[in-house]
Amino acid sequence: MQIFLARTQGFCAGVARAIEIVERALKSYGTPLYVFHEIVHNTSVVNSFISRGVIFVDNITSVPEGSRIIFSAHGVSPAILNEASKKKLETMDATCPLVTKVHQEAVQFSNSNIDVILIGHKGHEEVVGTSGYVKPELLHIVSHADDIAKLDIPPHKKVAFITQTTLSVDDTRELILKLRAKFPRLTGPMRDDICYATQNRQDAIKELAKICAPDGMIIICGSSNSSNSNRLREKGEQLGVPSIIVDHAKDLDLNLLKNRNNIGISSGASVPRHLVDEIVNKICTAFPDTKLNTFDNPEENIIFPLPRI
Ligand code: SF4
Repeated sequence: MQIFLARTQGFCAGVARAIEIVERALKSYGTPLYVFHEIVHNTSVVNSFISRGVIFVDNITSVPEGSRIIFSAHGVSPAILNEASKKKLETMDATCPLVTKVHQEAVQFSNSNIDVILIGHKGHEEVVGTSGYVKPELLHIVSHADDIAKLDIPPHKKVAFITQTTLSVDDTRELILKLRAKFPRLTGPMRDDICYATQNRQDAIKELAKICAPDGMIIICGSSNSSNSNRLREKGEQLGVPSIIVDHAKDLDLNLLKNRNNIGISSGASVPRHLVDEIVNKICTAFPDTKLNTFDNPEENIIFPLPRI
């Protein structure tokens, strides 16, 4: 058996920054320290902070007045910022700068009174946060082609689109083409708002799929609520390679790997490297002749600056 580790995988710059903000806040201020939503969508990262006293909350109501709170990498709406301000919370913002860029686009279109079509998964924390930057009467959330057909906006109107950062690059391109066909005056970012990390990880899966098809398998290390991890698994499947998502090595059923030659392994943008190493070790222990192959990672130097803490 051969294992091929995806060229780009694991922590993106936005996740690394968000985790470092919590680390530094813990060091500088100790507990109690609140984080609004999971700081990133990874069970292991969240549990590790919980074990050190960090309290994760999904609403501001439960946070005592004057407490210190960090907003997660997915970003929050202005309504949450207002609530935090009313409760005199000490806030720190771990929103990924690439999500903040989408918020700015949302504000710009909304302030120009242009209907805004937000392409993304309804209910995902990033989409909920971004939605808050658009006047409610101008906001339309689109997840599938069917949603476009149902849009009740006159075709001659100028409309704008923005996107969640962690979508399928290929599916989003299709949706934007459909929007352009329906709304000739469609405006938006140059291409979409899908971030470099999502793009690179999906490209790396395409590379793995060529190696692993037709009788191999792709394993994505990631949590079930991680949007970008789910998109990686879907991409592997779309390219004809059976693909699974596992949170930890202990969740990997080795029976699935029997009689397969090439196994591709990748991980979502919020997955610590040691979790991937544990999966590799489990496979290599069970199948001792396994050969491990790696590629150069083009993302090594991407870093987002930290706020002052
Ligand atoms: S996946 Fe992209 S948008 Fe999300 S935190 Fe990482 S770099 Fe930022």
